[in-house]
Amino acid sequence: MKTISILIPCHNEENNLHYLFEALCDLTLKEAEIHPEGADTPIIISMKDYNWKFMFVNDGSSDDTLTILRELANKDERITIINLSRNFGKENAMLAGMDLIEGNAVIIMDADLQHPVETIPEMVYWWSKGYDDVYGRRLVRGKESVLRRNMSMVFYKTLDSIADINTLPNVGDFRLLDRKVIDALRSLRETQRYTKGLYCWVGFSKKGVEFCQAERTGGKSSFNFFRLLNLAIDGITDFSTKPLRMASIAGGIVSFLAFTYMIFIIVKTIIWGEPVTGFPTLICVILLLGGLQLLALGVIGEYLGRIFNEVKNRPPYIIESIIKKETES
Ligand code: UDP
Ligand code: MG
Repeated sequence: MKTISILIPCHNEENNLHYLFEALCDLTLKEAEIHPEGADTPIIISMKDYNWKFMFVNDGSSDDTLTILRELANKDERITIINLSRNFGKENAMLAGMDLIEGNAVIIMDADLQHPVETIPEMVYWWSKGYDDVYGRRLVRGKESVLRRNMSMVFYKTLDSIADINTLPNVGDFRLLDRKVIDALRSLRETQRYTKGLYCWVGFSKKGVEFCQAERTGGKSSFNFFRLLNLAIDGITDFSTKPLRMASIAGGIVSFLAFTYMIFIIVKTIIWGEPVTGFPTLICVILLLGGLQLLALGVIGEYLGRIFNEVKNRPPYIIESIIKKETES
């Protein structure tokens, strides 16, 4: 029997875990009816044909998440808890899970029930048809601010045009990955991870299934404007060095214009002389050049920072304990 493991990163999710685990337990006993695209009649797929395991990664929660996870693990031996020593962020928490997870396939999902459990049977169906990466595509993005929605649209457009990979819009971490894909992702050890891009980078056969993103059940989202902005910068600098090239090109163009203007000023001064005027022009030129220089320096700094973080070669996460039913290591 094939094993499917569910990987759930958790950061302050005390209000959601009971509901989530109940839904997951129901799922594993289900004979689900699905309507996959291209099939004329509904298909029944039995979740009982698979061996299920659950891995929760406690990413430095400051609430009762760990206590609740322990309670659940004591009731069900299919659960493993990876307890990280502090909050390392969702990307690293997922990596910790991927490093330790067993199973022929892994389903990654959020703990807040925004990723509907009902979509899983269709993912399993496409996996059984030979797809290695079955990703969920959001139809409704839940209750999000207009600013956040537009920002993420701008970000994906920018990333697509700048980066050398093709990220899929409205696709996140909710997906089923074959063991091959998990092994490939584990082999990429960069510390500032942008996993959404890495799924595309590793390749393999992909299939999308649609799902409606629900509201967060309890607690609040850990991603505020600045965390998302950081993730966006990570995404761009992780997959492309084009910003550096753009800085060089902009530098070239500005130098050329500045040189032309200089010649013009010299010629003008020789022919007509120069009573001291032109203060506004001077200020504009200084400010423009200063701004461009700072911008280019910032771009270089971003890449330098990444190199700094990589050469330190620190582990991306530290495990405090691994907890299973009645045993602890
Ligand atoms: N998460 C995590 N570590 C963090 C932040 C979030 O493991 O530092 C988990 C969180 O518990 C949830 C998932 O990542 O299971 C998605 O987080 P959230 O719902 O806050 O993000 P959003 O849905 O707003 O993108
Ligand atoms: Mg969420």
